[in-house]
Amino acid sequence: VSLKFTVSTTDLVEHGGRQLALLRVTNEGRPRTASVRCRINQLDETVRLEIPQGEKPHFLAFPRAARRTPIRVDIDGQTVRSHVEPPRPWNIHVILHTHTDIGYTDYQPNIFRDFVGFLNEAMALVEKTRDMPAPARFHWTVETAFHLDLFERRASRDERRRLVQHLRRGDIEATACYLNMTDLPNSDQILRSFGFIRDFAARHRVPVRAGLAADINGLGWVVPAALHDLGVPNFCMSLNHDSAIVPLNRPMPFWWESADGKRVLVWHGEQYHWGNHLCIERGFDACAPRIASYLRELIGRGYPYRDVLAPMSGALADSAPPTILPSLTVCDWVARFANPTMRITTLGEWFAVIRPRIGRSVPVYRAHWPDYWAHGLGSAPTEIRFARETQHLLAAAGTAGAYVSATDRDATFPAGTLGEAYHDAAFGNEHTWGAFDSVWNAYGDFARCQWQQKRDYFYRARTETSAILGESLESIGRGALGGDPSVVVYNALSWSRDGIAELEGVHRPVAGYTLERLVDPETGRAVPYEYRESGGTYLDGRVPVRDVPATGYRVLASKSGEPKRIEWRSVRGGGETIENKHYRVRVDRRTGAIVSVYDRNLRCELVRKNAPLAFGRLVHETLPPSHERTGARDWVHNDDRVDAYRRAFDRATARGGAVRHREFPGWLRRLEMSGRCRGLVALTTAVTLHDREKRIDIEYRLTLPDERRPQALYVPFALAGAKPRLWYEAPGGAVEPGVDQIPTTCYDFYTVQNFVRFEAGDLCVTLVPRDTPLIETNELATFAFREHLPRFNGTVVSLLYNNYWHTNFPATHPGDHVFRFSLTSGAKRTHRRADSWRFAYEVANPLRARFSPSAAGPELARPKRRPTRGSFVEVQPRNVMLLSLAPADASNAYLFRLQETEGRRTRAVLRFQDARPRTAAKTDLFGAKPRRISVRGRTVSVSLAASELAALLLRF
Ligand SMILES: [Zn+2]
Repeated sequence: VSLKFTVSTTDLVEHGGRQLALLRVTNEGRPRTASVRCRINQLDETVRLEIPQGEKPHFLAFPRAARRTPIRVDIDGQTVRSHVEPPRPWNIHVILHTHTDIGYTDYQPNIFRDFVGFLNEAMALVEKTRDMPAPARFHWTVETAFHLDLFERRASRDERRRLVQHLRRGDIEATACYLNMTDLPNSDQILRSFGFIRDFAARHRVPVRAGLAADINGLGWVVPAALHDLGVPNFCMSLNHDSAIVPLNRPMPFWWESADGKRVLVWHGEQYHWGNHLCIERGFDACAPRIASYLRELIGRGYPYRDVLAPMSGALADSAPPTILPSLTVCDWVARFANPTMRITTLGEWFAVIRPRIGRSVPVYRAHWPDYWAHGLGSAPTEIRFARETQHLLAAAGTAGAYVSATDRDATFPAGTLGEAYHDAAFGNEHTWGAFDSVWNAYGDFARCQWQQKRDYFYRARTETSAILGESLESIGRGALGGDPSVVVYNALSWSRDGIAELEGVHRPVAGYTLERLVDPETGRAVPYEYRESGGTYLDGRVPVRDVPATGYRVLASKSGEPKRIEWRSVRGGGETIENKHYRVRVDRRTGAIVSVYDRNLRCELVRKNAPLAFGRLVHETLPPSHERTGARDWVHNDDRVDAYRRAFDRATARGGAVRHREFPGWLRRLEMSGRCRGLVALTTAVTLHDREKRIDIEYRLTLPDERRPQALYVPFALAGAKPRLWYEAPGGAVEPGVDQIPTTCYDFYTVQNFVRFEAGDLCVTLVPRDTPLIETNELATFAFREHLPRFNGTVVSLLYNNYWHTNFPATHPGDHVFRFSLTSGAKRTHRRADSWRFAYEVANPLRARFSPSAAGPELARPKRRPTRGSFVEVQPRNVMLLSLAPADASNAYLFRLQETEGRRTRAVLRFQDARPRTAAKTDLFGAKPRRISVRGRTVSVSLAASELAALLLRF
């Protein structure tokens, strides 16, 4: 028998009332015709069908079923029996957009040019389809606000004016999210990314009714708060299930809440090319059977609604142009079918339809949405380290710039340059990393050129922010010592502290600009510092400094004379142990592991005994050659092969080697151990104890070969104590995996902003993975595709790097890399959650020292005269942090964003020293809707809710 067939009911009803059943015929023989007899109720009809080779769907028409009714179909003596069901009334809402990949399918500059062109084409298609039936008329949803930004900068004035008319009329619709982001950006960067659409919408009086994310698998927890405060009540997620498990049961709505309880309605929809998967652009005959099957599948899955959202592009491809094809299909569809209806619409219109229909039983998740694709971030360790440093440099440049401009009438905030740095950082954080063939053609020109452009964003953002910060600090320094050369030490955090300031490189090949003897102008004493010099033109080093004020500085004078040097020196003895008054740490020279971390104050061992993964010991993972990927998609995917790959992982652990001890007198002592590990060219592990704070730094310096074979490197941290619990910092709040995350989102790995906090009994440990954000829990869990999160066993594994993606991410990451971790511990009473935040932000924000040359040149503006130490603002109590500071719309006004970090209601107090606020208001996160709060002298206080991310607008 060469014909096989099935028959199934559909919800398709033609005008005139005939319902359709779907007959799928598979013909393994030659093309032929066959007579098909269909019997249902009184109907008994025979038709002749053309049966081509292969599988083909046909529709059989019958009078609409009022109840479940048997159907019998005979072809060539074969019979199949089934039932037809009364049709559910359906409405299919098609939204058209282009997916925003910055690269991937083409070189980035071509993509930019295309996106401008696509908006012009979309406007032309609106005109061209004006006379079509209303449901078929072209509408366009602008997937990310970046398209509008580009258009503003590149299109003609006439084109821009026309676009605004379309946006107001609603046949083209703006959405809120600037780009499709990875898990990298912090809350400051995420909030900042909404700035463009906020200004655009206000400037042009254009409605923005929804945010849209496509392709990516997660988003920062601050997003619901941002959308809420923007006045955008809806958000659509169209995640791509490639290398991921789809969370929950999509399509479905839910309320998504930020940690402080601001909510948006999420439509957790199908994949962003869903309409293309349904073949809508390929015409009526191609899409009707697929749509019929899909609607029945939705009923089978318990989908309760009559409305269906089908997002799609002009073709099944990323960054695809708009086309007229969907309009043509809809024309044919509405001409033939009474049910389902089909129309081309916009995302905002979709929400207008679905919102009143969702009822009260919609779930509420006050939870983070971790991204399944985060392990791609492990493919570029240097760029990720830069991205993380840039986040803190951006915040530091913002506070320093605000300080200078709020306290010096002649100074201006570096809004332009800082804006560019945020922009470059955003393009680093965006989800497109490289060419589609980045893995299997890694050395092709296409992959190389795209990666070079991508990495440029990371490098530029870091360089720019460092320069902008330096400019503000130099201005402070010039004002403080009457134009004499100085070193300014800056503390970007909102509490005062001691530390070893990192002296940024000075590169001034001009006589008289060398750094010499440093003197504390308050005591007249020489300040010892460490420096590294090259040819008298380049210099960097470290300056230990005490008591640097909150968001403030101290100035040290640079005088001619022999510098007082402090430098690392060798220490004899010590063996495998290093200790100070806070900790005693022991390594094992044989295994390279850290076998003991003893907290002398708590009298407690932090390292878990007999853990399967040794604390601090690197694990290298690869696959046997038989499992190496050879093409685009025959690598790990979310299917049966995953288990086979998981079983095939070949793992080797590191070995230790020679140990040496050094100290930075009075401040640091350090143990360095050489080591080796399969897959690495070189390896050194260092453990540093801080004498003046309770802190251990663990650092891995390693060299990687240019190796494309799939591989990963891990370092486990197995912590002692019964019933351990774990939190990590996400953008917008601390997250306990499995508790504060949307159910069935990624349980395999998490992207940590700055810290991981452990609690076990009375013991609390904060771990700061400074350079690499990825952690896994309990075991090496890459590609475990966990459907449940196992109970936490005290082990956190840092995923240092991997190249497991089959596309987009770099296939190799050769060269020298550094991975730094910092750790502190305490009792629950004294090391509270807020202390984890503070510790992490101190580690990530070292005091920064900057050489300020003499102000001899006439090109330098005369800065305000300043004392040798100063502070902008100090924030109290301990559980409130200043996250960012930026100029607001009003003149001489600044927006202060504060984060409550302990999870309790608090009265925050801001004490200003060098500036006097004239008015203060609590606003939404973007500085709007001010509610006046009182200013007492130089103090402003305000109530914060538990975990609140708040904004204050202060005018000076
Ligand atoms: Zn994409």
